[in-house]
Amino acid sequence: MAHPITAPMLGEPYLLTPGPLTTSWDVKQAMLKDWGSWDHDFRAMTRDMRTRLLSLIGVGSEAYDCVPLQGSGSFLVEAMLGSFVPQDGKVLVLANGAYGQRAAQTMDYLGRDHIVLDKGDYMPPRGGEVANILAADPAISHVLAIHCETSSGILNPIQEIAAATHAAGRKLLIDSMSAFGAIPLEASDLCYTAFVSSANKCIEGVPGFGFVIAKTAELAAAKGNSHSLCLDVHAQWSVMNKTGQWRFTPPTHVVAAFMTALVAHTAEGGVAGRGARYAKNRDVVVAGMRSLGFETLLDNRWLSPIIVTFFCPKDPAFVFETFYELMKTKGFIIYPGKLTVVASFRVGCIGQMDEHVMTLVVAAAKQALNEMGVISAAPPAAALDERKKLTEIDDKEIA
Ligand SMILES: *Cc1c(COP(=O)(O)O)cnc(C)c1O
Repeated sequence: MAHPITAPMLGEPYLLTPGPLTTSWDVKQAMLKDWGSWDHDFRAMTRDMRTRLLSLIGVGSEAYDCVPLQGSGSFLVEAMLGSFVPQDGKVLVLANGAYGQRAAQTMDYLGRDHIVLDKGDYMPPRGGEVANILAADPAISHVLAIHCETSSGILNPIQEIAAATHAAGRKLLIDSMSAFGAIPLEASDLCYTAFVSSANKCIEGVPGFGFVIAKTAELAAAKGNSHSLCLDVHAQWSVMNKTGQWRFTPPTHVVAAFMTALVAHTAEGGVAGRGARYAKNRDVVVAGMRSLGFETLLDNRWLSPIIVTFFCPKDPAFVFETFYELMKTKGFIIYPGKLTVVASFRVGCIGQMDEHVMTLVVAAAKQALNEMGVISAAPPAAALDERKKLTEIDDKEIA
């Protein structure tokens, strides 16, 4: 049952970051071979990879195709927006953090019409709000949702958003960068037009490319939409289907590593197995950090199994930079916070780590606090007020 976890290279710290993340020894080792990008072995690998990725969206996947594309995750978001939103389309961008803001900024660069529902640092965009905006603005053709907003770690209510979008007859685009592979994204359930993810998140590959999974009919209809030669998803798809090759030099070693990561993903029990390990990681680190006095930004109901935001303690002896360095010397690279209102830091739950590693993370945090002379890890009152506000508005919406 237990999935073998391989520790990082001797002496290297664990990356408690949401991609790049700690990869297995096998994944690293898969990069030791050179591949000809035109060779039929590499073409077969690309084909196999596309098929494996499609199998992860479950029933209804026959209506979809998978298109890998060079670049980091943001390249894929830009490619998706530029390829599926026609020049005269209009996008409702649902933002509650840095990645939603980046998608809106991408629309600015594209010069295509859009409006932003900005929920601030961590409030989830709700189905009812989406329905109201779509009812009031018939020009909106697409809705862009962030699945897990990695800047706070919130798992957005994608079901609700999908239902509101389809009830209004609009098309759904999803940035599932940090969620796909660990959180279900079933085609039959969410009926998205397209979503994007990347090699270095929940599938546990190394960085270098991402992929679009889109309805085949939408891929066919996307011809001529793109603003960019390199980021044209339709062109990449049609050349890849004709020749089996990537249009431009593929990151061959990264693809080989990713194939190894996909095989391990299947062996772990696919999306359900991977998601269960990450959820356990989260539960252990959240319970442990709370026992030290730390508080999470989000109420339990919104905590994702991907990354968790903790408030920095109010104790003046706590200095984030020192805490970061101490954690690093103990073997763990944590992640600074991205909140605008209060100081915070983040701990990723994804990558080659299990609950035993997370127990060591908590022990390291405890030691670091002692070494800094921090008496209490409790956050400032302002932070708790923020959280209270979130929970109250939320309770109202649920009621
Ligand atoms: C990681 C991530 C991205 C892509 O970021 P890059 O730095 O370009 O790889 C986009 N959206 C979300 C939600 C992410 O977590």
